[in-house]
Amino acid sequence: MTDILCRSMLFEGKAIVTAINCTETAEKARVIHNTSKSATNALARVLAMGVFMSAGFKGLRHKLTVIVDGGGKGGDIIVCGDCGSKVRCRMDNPDCFSGEEVRPVQEVIGAQGRLTVIKDFGLKEPYNGTVKLVNGTVDTDFAYYFTVSEQLPSAIATGVKLREDGSVAAAGAVIVQPMPNCPPEIVETLVDVVRNFKDMDEIVATHTPTTLIEEYFGHFDNKPLQPTYPAYVCSCSREAMERILVSMGKKDATEIIEQNGVIEFNCDFCHRKQIFTKEDVEKIFEEANDKNNDSDNK
Ligand SMILES: [Zn+2]
Repeated sequence: MTDILCRSMLFEGKAIVTAINCTETAEKARVIHNTSKSATNALARVLAMGVFMSAGFKGLRHKLTVIVDGGGKGGDIIVCGDCGSKVRCRMDNPDCFSGEEVRPVQEVIGAQGRLTVIKDFGLKEPYNGTVKLVNGTVDTDFAYYFTVSEQLPSAIATGVKLREDGSVAAAGAVIVQPMPNCPPEIVETLVDVVRNFKDMDEIVATHTPTTLIEEYFGHFDNKPLQPTYPAYVCSCSREAMERILVSMGKKDATEIIEQNGVIEFNCDFCHRKQIFTKEDVEKIFEEANDKNNDSDNK
């Protein structure tokens, strides 16, 4: 089944519910980073939040970065997102609790740290919001972030179900956000519904986003909006690596070549390798020089 994010207006637009299935995206993250069961379980939840937050991006240059540094066994988790929920991620210790059954999310993430969200809309200053982690469970931490940093009180439940071999059987989330004009009694009702998502791991495994919304929110005058199709996509390219190479400066680049024979870049998000030989490096700096001279003559 393809990953999908569905949104619906509730109570004549007074609130909005989002249901996400990002099973394939989470499974791809697991394969790329070779995560342990516990790491997959935590990472997939943060990934689901990245899917949610980048779904609304319109411009191709809009960039989302989510950093969770809670001091847990998994180390820092970073999720990046582009418009249309095209996400990628990395974590410091993908093999934490390796060989064990799934440990609680907060043991992987930790609760002594921060959640930082950077939204770059290509303007002068990117939006930057940081909150202290509440308990390192993802759901509560992101709900707190939305309430405090974006003034959007939110109810969030993420769910992940793994197979015996550690692969992802299901991953997803449900997020309810009342609009500013939403009456308190409707907020109360919606928060109650999400509170009942006790076994969200089971719910994501047995529902599609559409059936989830129908079953739990269908009686709230629900009006579906256009869906989004999340995917794990890395934006790294040889051209971007060339720019990093140029920014290193010719002296340092030449030194590495002399020591190692080649310069090798390994993308943190997809583990794609870019190898530059001595000839490549010489050519890149020649071209960079030409460009500089061109702009000097203008
Ligand atoms: Zn990459």
